Amino acid sequence: MAGERVAILFDIDGTLITTGGAGAESWRLAFNELYGIPADIGQFTDAGMTDPDVGRKTFEAVLKREPERKEFARLLERRLNYLHTTVEESKDYRVMPGVEELLQKLLVGGYLLGLVTGNVEAAAHIKLHRARLNRFFSFGGYGSDASDRGELTKIALKRASLVYGEEVAAAQALVVGDTPHDVEGAHAAGIACVGVGAYHFTADQLREAGADYAISSLAEGLPL
Ligand SMILES: [Mg+2]
Repeated sequence: MAGERVAILFDIDGTLITTGGAGAESWRLAFNELYGIPADIGQFTDAGMTDPDVGRKTFEAVLKREPERKEFARLLERRLNYLHTTVEESKDYRVMPGVEELLQKLLVGGYLLGLVTGNVEAAAHIKLHRARLNRFFSFGGYGSDASDRGELTKIALKRASLVYGEEVAAAQALVVGDTPHDVEGAHAAGIACVGVGAYHFTADQLREAGADYAISSLAEGLPL
């Protein structure tokens, strides 16, 4: 096996929290305000895609053309504007089982904790803010860094080294996520992945998708 793991990189949606549909609702409100179309991203995109991809694919599907740069920037801004409210007001927002205990334990154990998420950076922090979880994460790779999950995972790893002033190799990191996209992204960066089958997928499905480890809840702890 690889050397000791020192950095743990967490996906957000379906892994640390679920917003209870607040993300999709914020896109719906943004498309409705700008174009009079309450677009449902769930019809055109799937879980684990990056925000820029979600916005672009949905735009192309409902407006039958590519967004111009200016209108895409506007769409991203309107979406973030609504996200503050939809997250705050979501009745089904919840922290996934075992998360707070696990993060606390990992910190005490001296691990470096970061984020790897398809959310643009601001969206990631808006979503984590309601549960006061931002404090655990001092770096990350976001959908605003790259639309490719492998690329943004590599960026997260690089930032771990920058923030902590020590080289962190891929073999010293572990990605924790809930979809096959997380597994692919981790492997593209040369990092092992723990699949958490607590939301969109089961542990078996994530194992089939190539996850190096699969658990059904973070309450089980990580294979460290
Ligand atoms: Mg996820």
